Amino acid sequence: MARIALFPGSFDPFTNGHLDTVVRASQLFDEVVIAAMTNTAKKALFAPDEKVTLIEAATAHLDNVRVVAQANGLTIDLAHKLDAHFIVRGLRNANDLAYESDIARVNQSLDASIETVFLLASSQYLAVSSSMIKEVAQFGGDVSTLVPMNVAQALQAKFAEAQHD
Ligand code: ADP
Repeated sequence: MARIALFPGSFDPFTNGHLDTVVRASQLFDEVVIAAMTNTAKKALFAPDEKVTLIEAATAHLDNVRVVAQANGLTIDLAHKLDAHFIVRGLRNANDLAYESDIARVNQSLDASIETVFLLASSQYLAVSSSMIKEVAQFGGDVSTLVPMNVAQALQAKFAEAQHD
């Protein structure tokens, strides 16, 4: 049976920290499905289809990785649909651990057969978050070392477009 892992997130936008987690997960599992989720608590800069296109291009070199969009619903239901028995999440710090372990416990109570696997963020990406990237890019700061090239270009286009509105 193929070991399929689901990597859910807002990915608004997808960063090099996310990519690092995906690369490492792709070495641990037969298949990794990245799900660009719509986080109802956060207002998104990128539409779901834009996120999918960006993540697909940024992970095109990884044979066993694919990308889906998920508008709403439970992560655990998506895992069932995809036949994924693992949920991958990244941990940067103690805040992530507190937040992520609560979610993992809830998911565990919903379906104990689905295991959440945490990958520790690599040290060079510890300070990288989507919100920090948006903050910096919005004011014209250079984020090209922190996000994939296509994401840096998309951010530039997005904020140039906003200035003309
Ligand atoms: P969410 O809104 O679901 O937290 P994010 O897109 O912010 O979605 O993050 C998705 C996952 O990636 C989370 O598990 C988060 O902890 C992890 N993550 C975020 N930034 C990094 C990073 N720099 N390095 C490793 N993992 C990260």
